[in-house]
Amino acid sequence: MRILLVEDEPSLNRQLDMALQHAGYSVDVSVNGRDAWALGDAEPFDAVVLDLGLPQMDGLTVLKRWRAAGRGMPVLILTARDNWHEKVAGIDAGADDYLTKPFHTEELLARLRGLIRRASGLSSPLLVCGPVELDTRTGRVTLDGQAIALTSHEFKVLAYLMHHPGAVVSRTELTEHIYAQDSDRDSNTIEVFVGRLRKKLPAALIETVRGLGYRLVAPP
Ligand code: CA
Repeated sequence: MRILLVEDEPSLNRQLDMALQHAGYSVDVSVNGRDAWALGDAEPFDAVVLDLGLPQMDGLTVLKRWRAAGRGMPVLILTARDNWHEKVAGIDAGADDYLTKPFHTEELLARLRGLIRRASGLSSPLLVCGPVELDTRTGRVTLDGQAIALTSHEFKVLAYLMHHPGAVVSRTELTEHIYAQDSDRDSNTIEVFVGRLRKKLPAALIETVRGLGYRLVAPP
């Protein structure tokens, strides 16, 4: 899953970027409103963390522009302490959740997980497909209860598919959701990751839909 992190304060930005990457997300970072708006307008994100006080274009304007253009990704806003009207304005502008600074990184991660699973129509933080379970709280993947070691890319591919069970997901879509913008993108590598996942998990779990992409199915 891919997150856009918009925060102009360098230390908080670094801290959140690291925490998000550690949690298994691909992260694009913006430090001003104008870049954030352009990125969120052009790229598909699974969720956005948006500070409201930003240089060049304030977060509220960024959010309103996205929503006016039909961009519906989940957005978690960061608001200043004791500024309740900022929260109201943010929610009315289309924010899905908010956090007041200062906050604990763990709470931000939990709220993001909640936003992402609601956007996928999922109700539990534990994603299950047949004998395979992915716990979004810990990043742990198990097969019949036994932990399976995955590389970061394998995990990202599996996590995206497990958030879209039964749906056909193209290689392009997978590429866009497992790589941040500045990374070396190569949709051919998706095939490699899927191949490795099929070796570590039941091979029938990820079905190839010829010419269209992949579909996660519970093995018989
Ligand atoms: Ca700020």
